[in-house]
Amino acid sequence: MSLQFINAADLVVHWIAGQADAGGGTRRGEVFAPAHGRISRPVALAERADVDRAVAAAKAAFVEWGTAAPQRRARVMFAFRDLVEKYARDIAALITAEHGKTLPDALGEVQRGLEVIEFACGIPQLLKGQHSHGIGGGIDHWSQRMPLGVTAGITPFNFPFMVPMWMVPMALACGNTFILKPSERDPSPSLFAAELLHEAGLPDGAFNVVQGDKEAVDALLEHPDVQAVSFVGSTPIAKYIQAQGIAHGKRVQALGGAKNHMVVMPDADLDGAADALIGAAYGSAGERCMAISVAVAVGSCADELVARVVERAKKLKVGAGDTADVDMGPLVTGIHRDKVAGYIAAGVKEGATLVLDGREGLTGQLAQGFFINPTLFDNVTAGMSIYRDEIFGPVLCVVRVPTFAAAVDLINRNSFANGVACFTRDGGTAQAFVKTIEVGMVGINVPIPVPMAWHSFGGWKASLFGDHHIYGEEGVRFYTRYKSIMQRWPGSGSKGPEFVMPVNE
Ligand code: NAD
Repeated sequence: MSLQFINAADLVVHWIAGQADAGGGTRRGEVFAPAHGRISRPVALAERADVDRAVAAAKAAFVEWGTAAPQRRARVMFAFRDLVEKYARDIAALITAEHGKTLPDALGEVQRGLEVIEFACGIPQLLKGQHSHGIGGGIDHWSQRMPLGVTAGITPFNFPFMVPMWMVPMALACGNTFILKPSERDPSPSLFAAELLHEAGLPDGAFNVVQGDKEAVDALLEHPDVQAVSFVGSTPIAKYIQAQGIAHGKRVQALGGAKNHMVVMPDADLDGAADALIGAAYGSAGERCMAISVAVAVGSCADELVARVVERAKKLKVGAGDTADVDMGPLVTGIHRDKVAGYIAAGVKEGATLVLDGREGLTGQLAQGFFINPTLFDNVTAGMSIYRDEIFGPVLCVVRVPTFAAAVDLINRNSFANGVACFTRDGGTAQAFVKTIEVGMVGINVPIPVPMAWHSFGGWKASLFGDHHIYGEEGVRFYTRYKSIMQRWPGSGSKGPEFVMPVNE
């Protein structure tokens, strides 16, 4: 494996038509080493002409890849799967270097991406059509799933390997070709994936990476040869992608932001709930779309729950993600760190009780890098910006409510609806929660219920725009369209010219 494009001083480039490609333009972005608070390398930002070349390569590759036998495509996925497993630690190291999350967390991300590749290995079974024999007049009728053509994906910074893998294996296995526009904050894992797909035997041009920002995204959205766009990122951009994609005649799935609640009932195992909250709120420095950012303490349990969370949060080890035993790394950029600090200031101003202030204790490496320590607010109310907005940092808000019904009502009034959890020992409460909560992914005593690869991932309301969830069978539906075929052979029932709507007696 050459990996020449990710040597420390190198420009992070594009991958077009089966090779690394520096692009025609001179615009550059900055990739940081967030644990050290410095720029690590520049990244090329694509011009429209670079996107045009990637689309042309993908269109040319579709001629062969789109008609390849599904088992051939599956074999490429099997080889890709083995390579990802072989290089998992290298991919994880790249994630940690550019994103900042801890190495074990990055390895977990690689594993969850790998599982979607494994699902895609079963594509011959998933693409099987439907057949009706002898529907009348010697006619057989069947429907089969066909690929769309050139498809594109635009991905966020927080899972630079897993989220691209929610799209890429599904789109390719279905017979499409693909152009990935990864986050410009941590672009290298996508290039590594491109090289592994190449090594796995994927034809040149079937998978391309264009690095870039809004200019590259707009070029993809407006290109007449791009048939479908998958997006994962913040809600304002998801809305924009959906509107623009549809205006340009594309199929779109656009997953947006989140504000995930965890309800803790008075009968819950409070130690278990506190452990779950600590991991789900502060893991990956809160930069997960399924992070728990609001604990909803019901009735009498609030004081005890807050005390347990404080006790645990104080013990967390914060530091560089590649250091042993670190629980939480830095935020992705200095700008993002300042935004999170701004929300902490706003929460204090709005009257919430700041129990743990993550702006304190930032000395040594923590002052150098983009760090914020675990932060806890109590007595948060629905009108406060720290409750309403997605902060995307290690900030946990506790909202106290009197009853289960008030908890459900609070959550159902929130505009986001990605994930949610309820901690209880009572089966009836759990059943009522599952039935009445208006959120896409629900955990009962499970804080981060990210669906397995053979199910599908997706929120509701402002957390997803479009008709399909991502990966799993929903992924197959999104990346294919039905073709319906009727077939009759001479001598098997033709009645000569017919002038009425064909019907069967
Ligand atoms: P973001 O919306 O800023 O960026 C996502 C992608 O859109 C990037 O590739 C970026 O280059 C591009 N982009 C940014 N601004 C754009 C613009 N004006 N026009 C066109 N394209 C633009 O998101 P982010 O900060 O990279 O990631 C964090 C967000 O992603 C959070 O809101 C998080 O909840 C969300 N997210 C959601 C899910 C989910 O499954 N629902 C999963 C992961 C992350």
